[in-house]
Amino acid sequence: MAGLPMLREILVQSVKKPVTNLFPAVRLPKSITGFLGSVAEGKAAVVPPVETPPAFRGRIVYDRDACNGCGLCLKVCPAHAIEQVVYPPVTVRMTDAEGNVSEKVKKEKRVRIYVSSCIFCGQCTDICSRDALRMGDAFLIATEDRFAEEQIVE
Ligand code: SF4
Ligand code: SF4
Repeated sequence: MAGLPMLREILVQSVKKPVTNLFPAVRLPKSITGFLGSVAEGKAAVVPPVETPPAFRGRIVYDRDACNGCGLCLKVCPAHAIEQVVYPPVTVRMTDAEGNVSEKVKKEKRVRIYVSSCIFCGQCTDICSRDALRMGDAFLIATEDRFAEEQIVE
């Protein structure tokens, strides 16, 4: 009677809620653009996405204050999604404990990440000794403009 367990499973599955997340809408809209327009006007609502699991690799997050511009992340990035940015030198004035003032010319180096080129491998976050890079949770990042503001992290 191999058919009985299967019949039971069919009955169970037919009354169970779907496991998949009905994102962004319960029913597929005729036009996604139209649907998003209705959402913007408050006439429709987006079914929220599921929570991302731990160690999810979404859009990269950059802490530029922690970065020292060492450039290691550029070297390991297989997608060449990171470039170094060198800012014009600035003169920094320093005063020591005895009150002596000295000046030092500092060249600030940081990085810029092009999210549209990123393949979310996490190599750059692994190599960064300053924890200046981490894989974030954001994944709704599709766009028609690869140079849009939200596609460039710096
Ligand atoms: S993000 Fe990290 S690895 Fe990349 S340049 Fe800055 S400190 Fe170096
Ligand atoms: S996650 Fe991978 S592809 Fe994306 S910027 Fe880092 S090293 Fe490059």
